[in-house]
Amino acid sequence: MPASGTESGPLAFVFSAPTRIVYGEGCAAEAGIEMSALGGRRPFLVTDAGVRAAGLAYGVMKALGKACAGVFDEVPQDTGVHVVEKAAELARSCGADGVVSLGGGSVLDTGKGLALLLTEGGRLADYQGFQMLTRRQAFHVAIPTTAGTGSEATTVAVIKDHQARSKVLLFDAHLAPDVGLLDPRLLVSLPPRITAFTGMDALTHAVEAVHSLQAEPFSDALALHAVRLIAGSLPACVERGQDLEARGRMLVAATLAGQAFTNAMVCVVHALAHTLGGRFGVPHGLANAILLPFGMEYNLESSAARYALVAEAFGVRQAGMGAEESARAAVEAVRDLSARVGLPRRLREAGVPRESLAEVADAALSDGSIVYNPRPADAASLAELLEAAW
Ligand code: NAD
Repeated sequence: MPASGTESGPLAFVFSAPTRIVYGEGCAAEAGIEMSALGGRRPFLVTDAGVRAAGLAYGVMKALGKACAGVFDEVPQDTGVHVVEKAAELARSCGADGVVSLGGGSVLDTGKGLALLLTEGGRLADYQGFQMLTRRQAFHVAIPTTAGTGSEATTVAVIKDHQARSKVLLFDAHLAPDVGLLDPRLLVSLPPRITAFTGMDALTHAVEAVHSLQAEPFSDALALHAVRLIAGSLPACVERGQDLEARGRMLVAATLAGQAFTNAMVCVVHALAHTLGGRFGVPHGLANAILLPFGMEYNLESSAARYALVAEAFGVRQAGMGAEESARAAVEAVRDLSARVGLPRRLREAGVPRESLAEVADAALSDGSIVYNPRPADAASLAELLEAAW
C-alpha cells in the first residue's frame, strides 16, 4: 500500500496509542500513584536479577510501599512461557490484583503475560496469536530500564517457548500497558554493549515501520522522529552512560518507535531476528542491528522513496541524489551508526552457524512479521539475505 510521503497517500488505516506516557527524571517514584489512579491495590513487581543488582528495584518497591504484594526477579533474557506461568502462580498466591514491571523488554513482556493470566487464568498458549482477548486486563504499570523494545507502549508480548526453541507472539490491543513511566535515571547503569544493541533495536522498529506495507502518516511521523533522536543520541549514550539528556532522548525514541511499529508492524528483519533469538539465543537487538542494513538492501527497490525519508531523518544531504542513491545513503547511515556504537556486522560474529541458515529462512516464513514486508519473501530469497549477512 502506498503510504504517506508518496503522492497517493494511504487508502485507509487505524492508529492507536493506548498507553499513558509519563516522562521525567525520577518519575519511577510515581508508580504507586499511577497504580492507585488505575484502581490498583495489590501490585506484584516483576523485574530481573540484573536490574535488581543495578539497585533499581529498591526505589520502586519503596514507591509501592506496603501495598506491594510480592516481587518476582527470575526473568531470563527473552523470558519464557514457563517463567510467566510461574510468576502468575506466585502473584495469585499473594493476592495480587495487577502488575508493575521494571526492566527491559524481557521483563515488560513477562508483565504483559502476567496481567493476562491474572485476568483470564489458563495457559499462555491459549492466547497465542492476534486479538484473542475481549476485555480489559489487570492493571499494568511498565517502567523500562532499556531504551529499545518500546514494549511499554506496544500491544505485543514476545515470549519464548524454551522447549520448542521458538518465540511465541501474543498480539492484542488489551496487552498494552496502562502506563509507561519513562525515567532516564534508570538507564545510567545500562552497560555500553546492551545500550548499543537495544538502541539499534529501537532504530529497527522505526525503519521497519517506515518500509512496512501498513505504514501510515501517524506511524511515519513517530518513526521518523525516532530515527532523528536515535541518530543524534545513541553514540552519546554508549560513550557517556551518565548523560541523562541523551538517555532521555533515547527512551523517548524507543517509545515513539514502539508506538509506530505496534501500528504499522515490523517486517523481514524481525521475522529473522525472532527466529535467530528462538534458535540460538542471539539477543533481539543484536540480531536486528546486524540484519537491518541487509533487510533494507533486500527491500531497496520497493522502498527507495521510503528510505529517502530515513536518510533525511539521519541528516544525510540529498541534494542531487536520486531516490535509489538516497536509499543507499540511508543503508550506509545505519551501518555507520552500528559500527560507531561498536556492534558486529555479521551473523557469524553472533554465534549463528552457517549450516543453519536454510532452516532459519524456512522457519522465518511462519513468523507473523513477514506478511508486512514490502517485497515478497520465500525460503530461497531469505536464505540469500541471511547468507549475505553471515
Ligand atoms: P532484556 O530485557 O533481555 O535485558 C537485557 C539485559 O540487560 C538483562 O540482563 C538485564 O538485567 C539488563 N538490564 C536491563 N536494564 C538494565 C539497567 N538499567 N542497568 C543494568 N542492567 C540492565 O533486553 P531488551 O532488549 O530490553 O528486551 C529484549 C526482549 O524484548 C526480547 O525477548 C525481545 O523479543 C522482546 N521484545 C519485545 C517487544 C515488544 O513490543 N513487546 C519489542 C521488541 C523486543
